[in-house]
Amino acid sequence: MTDFNLIKRTWQRSMIWLACRDNLRERIEGSDRLAALAKRFVAGSDVTAARHKAEELAAARIHTSVYFLGEYVDSAELVEENVKGILAAIEQFGQTNLDWFMSVDPTQIGCSISDELGWANAQRIGEVIKTIPNAQAHPMMIDMEDARVVPQTIALFEKLLAAGVPAAITLQTYLFRTSEDFQRLAGQGATIRLVKGAFVASRRIAYTHKRDIDDAYLRLCLLALSPAMKAAGHRPIFATHDDRILDILLPVAQANGWSPNEYEIEMLLGVREPYQRDLAAAGHMVRVYVPFGSAWWPYSIRRVGENPANGRFVLRAMLRR
Ligand SMILES: Cc1cc2nc3c(=O)[nH]c(=O)nc-3n(C[C@H](O)[C@H](O)[C@H](O)COP(=O)(O)OP(=O)(O)OC[C@H]3O[C@@H](n4cnc5c(N)ncnc54)[C@H](O)[C@@H]3O)c2cc1C
Repeated sequence: MTDFNLIKRTWQRSMIWLACRDNLRERIEGSDRLAALAKRFVAGSDVTAARHKAEELAAARIHTSVYFLGEYVDSAELVEENVKGILAAIEQFGQTNLDWFMSVDPTQIGCSISDELGWANAQRIGEVIKTIPNAQAHPMMIDMEDARVVPQTIALFEKLLAAGVPAAITLQTYLFRTSEDFQRLAGQGATIRLVKGAFVASRRIAYTHKRDIDDAYLRLCLLALSPAMKAAGHRPIFATHDDRILDILLPVAQANGWSPNEYEIEMLLGVREPYQRDLAAAGHMVRVYVPFGSAWWPYSIRRVGENPANGRFVLRAMLRR
């Protein structure tokens, strides 16, 4: 393993470890000093803050995916709070003319408690989405969490589609299995958000070197843009900030006859914002992931873990007076 790979993996693992410490989380979420982290990656504590951020983005021709913070919860009360937060967001965004969809983590709606609870809550959310005018434009986007929950998450997505709920799914190219999952689901015309993956897994099931993960990402993105996938009705969403990859993909999209509204580029709030605006100004369909809510620590520290350069940012936040 090269030094850089080792540093990146160690940094990412440490930040994931911090994200999972519930006792730390309560203290940190009450700390004004570290709230600077939340300001960078999170729209605010309530849905109105998320709507304001979405309106600000819309002025720059950027669309929104909304996310209610609250992942890996293991109590039925917290799950219910999450579901209520998600439903309130759908209700408020459903009354706007914004171009938005709702991102949902399976564990936040109860999938880590039981499949039954996860499915019941997914149905509750799906039924509300179905009532929104032009519901197909506002699919429920299923985020993908760690490797243990991938089969369960794909099964949930397929059940939603079978129940007539407009739904889309995120697939992570760091996992070996994703190549097959992608070909099967995209070949059936699914909307798929391709990401490299924000988790770390064993080399038995996943690529562990950055270059291999990048290569796998590029391979599947190129497949997503193939004429066969276009004919199947697949809608690609490239969720990356990697300009080297987008520089390859965008000309391929044009050469293969994809018009700019048939695929999307999605990025995170607080990451490469000038680049987001430049792409939107150049006529590309850009969407930004807009998290909101008070449980900001696990999400923000995982974002920090994606780039060792963010260490300076954490240090500055900690030293702030
Ligand atoms: C909309 C969206 C949804 C996502 N959903 C999921 C999901 O459901 N499951 C999942 O596992 N992962 C998800 N991710 C995270 C994803 O898997 C990657 O961890 C993350 O996007 C970084 O990878 P990259 O493709 O940008 O490439 P990288 O090679 O990591 O980054 C390319 C460049 O972008 C910049 N950059 C990237 N990330 C950051 C950051 N956090 N802070 C500062 N600069 C950064 C750096 O300049 C870097 O050199 C999502 C990402 C996006 C954009």
